[in-house]
Amino acid sequence: MSGRAQLMWDEAVTGYDFGRDHPMDPIRLALTRRLVDAFGLDKDVDVVAAKPAGESTLRLVHREDYVEAVKAASADPGAADGAYGLGTMDDPAFAGMHEVSALIAGQSVGAAEAVWAGDALHAVNFAGGLHHAMPGAASGFCIYNDASLAIARLLELGAERVAYIDVDVHHGDGVQAAFWEDPRVLTISLHEHPRTLFPQTGWPEETGAEVAEGSAVNVALPAGTGDAGWLRAFHAVVPELIADFRPQVLVTQHGADTHFEDPLAHLAVSLDAQRAVQVACHELAHEYADGKWVALGGGGYAVVEVVPRSWTHLVAIAAGREIAPETLVPESWRQEVFARTRQLGPGRMTDGRWPVSFAEWDAGYDPADRLDQAVLATRRAVYPLRGLLA
Ligand SMILES: [Zn+2]
Repeated sequence: MSGRAQLMWDEAVTGYDFGRDHPMDPIRLALTRRLVDAFGLDKDVDVVAAKPAGESTLRLVHREDYVEAVKAASADPGAADGAYGLGTMDDPAFAGMHEVSALIAGQSVGAAEAVWAGDALHAVNFAGGLHHAMPGAASGFCIYNDASLAIARLLELGAERVAYIDVDVHHGDGVQAAFWEDPRVLTISLHEHPRTLFPQTGWPEETGAEVAEGSAVNVALPAGTGDAGWLRAFHAVVPELIADFRPQVLVTQHGADTHFEDPLAHLAVSLDAQRAVQVACHELAHEYADGKWVALGGGGYAVVEVVPRSWTHLVAIAAGREIAPETLVPESWRQEVFARTRQLGPGRMTDGRWPVSFAEWDAGYDPADRLDQAVLATRRAVYPLRGLLA
């Protein structure tokens, strides 16, 4: 049984809003929180609003001149001209951008501090997971990299081994970059192949700097990969590396944009498989990190159909109150969805693909299969660097 989990939430995180036609619509956060409440999960966790990340915390990862640029763009959005990646199509500046980005970062840092201190065994910040932000630039709808900041805070508190697992459809490039030279942090990213998707990085050969060889792991999946392939790849790489690394804390990013309905990417993963990987991460945290688990959101642009259900499952798993896939979505929530969006919203907490099945890697691989080629490329690039058999 898990210890009491924390859900990091401040209503003001819904102010992370790039504007009307931008894919990262903050309604996805509001609807997720409402669905969590509709299932009564807010009674099973401690809902905590942490303070925004301050200057010294932001500086653990982000350059001073970048933070100043974010503040300037936040105060005068019209002046943002693309410098530092601010004021672009992907990252248009908006009023209050610094404050709300620092608030979201503060939730992930607060989650890490609570787990490290033992105040909570698990902590969830589904408004976080903004994994593309670089130390000196905004990127991919991400201003401050709350995932990197949570990890950097753990290192500052004395952690010596932190593992980061990123299952967003996009490469977790910002987190990889922040710890590229740091062997204390193992970053593992499963994503759609860089040939077909932003940010065009995350090749299996990206394994870390010389001083931290084997501490960056990338599984580049062919477009079209579905549940069986995605789970096969996850289980063919992640558990073995985590068992070998024995992290003191596990930080995971659960971007929901791997889904077959996601408008921005090309994988074909179902909600049921997303839930299965959430369960697997939870189990890995218990098995190898004494249960110390920080779980974050991420991408996800099917903002009504997919994201709220995916992250409500995540909160339920962290709370030790898993929701069975076939469970009906509460009618009260569907009415709220209709009132806000004129859409009906999904009816069940499943895509009808439960139970999900996959073939274990140990059962053998097919050298002609593109998915297996992707897994093999990663194992061959990383495993020898970690003294493991590819
Ligand atoms: Zn993404």
